[in-house]
Amino acid sequence: MNISAGSGFAPWQQRVYDQAAAAIDAGRLGHGLLFCGPARLGKRAVAERLAQRLLCTDRRADGEPCGACRGCRLYAVRSQTDPVELRPDGALAHPLGHSGHPDLMFLGHEINQKAKPLKSRSEIVIEQVRNLSEKMQLTPSLGGAQIVIVDPADAINHAASNALLKTLEEPIAGRYLWLISAHPARLSATIRSRCQRLEFGLPPRDEALAWLRSRQHTDAAASEALDAARGHPGLAHEWLQDDGLRIRREVASDLARLARGEAGVVETAQRWAGDGHASLRLRHAADLAVTEAAGLTDPIRTRRLAIWFDLANRTRDLLRTTVRADLAIVELLMAWRADEGNQAAGGRKG
Ligand SMILES: [Zn+2]
Repeated sequence: MNISAGSGFAPWQQRVYDQAAAAIDAGRLGHGLLFCGPARLGKRAVAERLAQRLLCTDRRADGEPCGACRGCRLYAVRSQTDPVELRPDGALAHPLGHSGHPDLMFLGHEINQKAKPLKSRSEIVIEQVRNLSEKMQLTPSLGGAQIVIVDPADAINHAASNALLKTLEEPIAGRYLWLISAHPARLSATIRSRCQRLEFGLPPRDEALAWLRSRQHTDAAASEALDAARGHPGLAHEWLQDDGLRIRREVASDLARLARGEAGVVETAQRWAGDGHASLRLRHAADLAVTEAAGLTDPIRTRRLAIWFDLANRTRDLLRTTVRADLAIVELLMAWRADEGNQAAGGRKG
């Protein structure tokens, strides 16, 4: 999602932004903030723009950052590390790169300098938090605000979490520590209790559809994708852009054919693993199992689908390891055929 201009926000982002901006202007913004809500709703973009608002030294009459002062110019200078920092799922740890502003720091999945070959850490570790706390003790380089954005905050391991808590408990005026998380329940209760929450929720359907149409998707496509994504416009947009919806239809058809004994497990697994979309297929497969379970009254079958849902998600995690993807998927599909094949043979209930 575009963060370069204020008008680039989706309405649900704008609402959170306006709420937080009003708090900044009224001096009501606490030291610790927790940006939470589902992934791909643009939490990070809102956090970064709020940071720019705090770092701008010459804000416009409407309170928005000017885009021209030294603070804004440094904010806009971006760079990635070499090698680039990645999340465990392969996405960029900092999609727009680190900021050139010395008082804006991003903490996330950083490169482990001891690993050979060099690679990104799977967790946020205590050394990172200690370095951060030291920097936050210093006077901000440009004399204004100082902001740290931790993303994803739920990647903080236990020891680092305790260290971070100290920073949260000793606030200094003008220093901000912002946590971003799609899974806030994974954060310690103490950390959560020290932060003001900014909630990103799924928008009303009409708003999501209007936004998708503004992204050049047709009504029919937007509506189908939004249903598949359970009302999540960011996900629907992504699926419409990258063929995800076609893949979902294929996955649904493959699962039905496997259950009826019309498709082979090995052949299907090789196809699923063969083109770089294996993870997305497993995501859809897991979701389709939940959809199937939603309308059921048979508790045994509901439970079987729930178990298979977990298995699909675990298999998806396995794809990030050195395990051969097609073999992992074969096991998953065999379990599907065993469960759902019996079901198909015995007549469908529910
Ligand atoms: Zn400015």
